[in-house]
Amino acid sequence: MRILVTGGAGFLGSQLCERLLTEGHEVLCLDNFFTGRKQNIQDFFGNHRFELVRHDVIEPIMLEVDQIYHLACPASPIHYQYNAIKTIKTNVLGTHNMLGLAKRVKARFLLASTSEVYGDPVEHPQTESYWGNVNPIGIRSCYDEGKRVAETFTMDYHRQNGVDVRIVRIFNTYGPRMLADDGRVVSNFIVQSLQGKDLTVYGEGQQTRSFCYADDLIDGMVRMMNNPDFIGPVNIGNPSEYTIRDFAEKIIAMTGTSSKIAYEPLPSDDPRQRCPDITLAGEKLGWKPLVSVDDGLKRTIEYFKKELSA
Ligand code: NAD
Ligand code: UDP
Repeated sequence: MRILVTGGAGFLGSQLCERLLTEGHEVLCLDNFFTGRKQNIQDFFGNHRFELVRHDVIEPIMLEVDQIYHLACPASPIHYQYNAIKTIKTNVLGTHNMLGLAKRVKARFLLASTSEVYGDPVEHPQTESYWGNVNPIGIRSCYDEGKRVAETFTMDYHRQNGVDVRIVRIFNTYGPRMLADDGRVVSNFIVQSLQGKDLTVYGEGQQTRSFCYADDLIDGMVRMMNNPDFIGPVNIGNPSEYTIRDFAEKIIAMTGTSSKIAYEPLPSDDPRQRCPDITLAGEKLGWKPLVSVDDGLKRTIEYFKKELSA
């Protein structure tokens, strides 16, 4: 198949491109390089089935493809808040353009949505039927409300125009190819530990997150795209839940650093708890995460050691 991956030069997008190339597909990687980098995809340039399109999804584009994985959007809070208006445009106009493309060429379209659509959840763990608790005017809204509109657009193109769609709600995912200065908790804590700096825990560190290794996530996404009739939304994540303080202590122990914890103010609207209920992914896709948090973190620590020494 000919497959378009928007955001294909990013952390998850580049791993998805690699998986699709390994399966023998032609891959079109589309990216504006806001948080993506050529280094993530440089190994694919020698492959005649790989093509790079430098393009911003907020502008329309004409391409001929069979499937579209729509990942283009910065994922780290510091990156998506850097230019909030651009983030909303990417989620709304960008998703509109990619759905228009899917409609024109009759491609199957998969939206990379997020657990952020649940906001600061009052139901725990989160099931797909929960509608969420989201602040429409806060500093995270450009991302979480943006993704909620992207989901709405996706379902309306499906109902109104018959576009073949899939929606995955991705929970916190980590692994190789994350940027060292990405700003998300896994990269921050590992890089701080390796550099002997204090680990910056926001608030008292009692908020929770659940961490999924990238390989597992990519596998869930590909299964969702290729299942015949289940359109979702479906949660993809690892239910191993940690308080951020415990997670910092875990990274300190695993890296053997002498770093301590430094407490910093909690950003506004930071969700207090997050953990996926993945029953639906199990039933519909036969999917569950296979990489334990310990194994995944070991691999990620090795990756960052190499990154920092390069
Ligand atoms: P990332 O920031 O590494 O990758 C995003 C990619 O999209 C980058 O290559 C960036 O340059 C590109 N991009 C951004 N705006 C664009 C635009 N307007 N036009 C074209 N390209 C653009 O983030 P990631 O972690 O790889 O996330 C990928 C997707 O998965 C995002 O849609 C994100 O919302 C979603 N997601 C990720 C996580 C996670 O934990 N990693 C969790 C939930 C959802
Ligand atoms: N966090 C933290 N220290 C950091 C980075 C993040 O304590 O250096 C916290 C952050 O406040 C949040 C959690 O870790 O509660 C996860 O943050 P991240 O940015 O990775 O993802 P998200 O908030 O989008 O889930």
